[in-house]
Amino acid sequence: MKTLEYSGNCSIHLGEKPVPEPASDQVRIKVSYAGICGTDMHIADGQHPRAKGGLVMGHEFSGTIDKAGVDTDFSVGERVVVEPLISCGSCYSCRSGYPHVCQNLGLYGIDADGAFAEYVVIASDKVYRLPDSIQMVHGALVEPMAVGVHAIRLSNLKSLDTVLVIGGGPIGLFVAIAAKQAGADVFISEINPFRNTLLKRLGFKTFDTNSEPSVRDEITDGKGFDVVFDAAGGPETLKIANVNVRVKGQVVMVAIPTQDRAVSYVPISFKEISLIGVRVYEYYDFHRAIHMLENLDMDLSLLYQVYPLESYEEAFASAKGGDDVMRVLFDLEGADV
Ligand SMILES: [Zn+2]
Ligand SMILES: [Zn+2]
Repeated sequence: MKTLEYSGNCSIHLGEKPVPEPASDQVRIKVSYAGICGTDMHIADGQHPRAKGGLVMGHEFSGTIDKAGVDTDFSVGERVVVEPLISCGSCYSCRSGYPHVCQNLGLYGIDADGAFAEYVVIASDKVYRLPDSIQMVHGALVEPMAVGVHAIRLSNLKSLDTVLVIGGGPIGLFVAIAAKQAGADVFISEINPFRNTLLKRLGFKTFDTNSEPSVRDEITDGKGFDVVFDAAGGPETLKIANVNVRVKGQVVMVAIPTQDRAVSYVPISFKEISLIGVRVYEYYDFHRAIHMLENLDMDLSLLYQVYPLESYEEAFASAKGGDDVMRVLFDLEGADV
């Protein structure tokens, strides 16, 4: 089968691997669509410490059951999406019921072969059925949507709150969608002009964090935002969040920063801000994400561009630039074995 693999030397290449055989508790999925995430770009650039040469990347995808192990309850032909976490099952976090923050957490597409291939083998307890009403191409958006659902669910957000999401890339957008669904009045701060325009087309209000404090005061009746989500993880964004959140408000760190960042501690104390971290998603979030996509009144086709696997160089360049696209997806449906 055709694959897109990390070469082990800061580059990626098209490859060939035998079609994998599922064990009794696994399923083999014929991949339909797979998204390029920031993690895939880190791997391709040689910046991911765990990725080894020969790895098939890709962890956000949809597909069809092609072969089901005897100990699974799936049948051939079922449409599915995958929660790509690999938890150890034996550490403190796993035993406490939090496998998403497993102390040895792995991911398909980093620690095991992922979905930039015609077929992928997955443990059946990580596989979720995709309702017929959700297009296969939208199934590849369930994973980042689940990140948004998890962030909202762990936050203090209440219906009618005024919320700021810093960073209007794919994760920021999905946080914003989940916040809106939860009844919040949502503003997004995004510097990329293409994304800014797209967010407005999708019906979101944007907020320039460089604007005068009076602009924020007008939006929030002078108090500041009730909850601020940092979905950018930039060197200054936590500082910006603490400045813009209200007294007793909450700042939620969604993005995982790749470098140390500036934090102004005084507002945390003076305003009694609560600051929380969130990581990936739980079982419940994945189910909610599927349900949310099923009922979402939004033109999702504005969010992505689709490439064949063979055009991987162009696809990765487009995903990295982010100048004219929110999410880049590979279409593997047309590929032959
Ligand atoms: Zn991802
Ligand atoms: Zn564990």
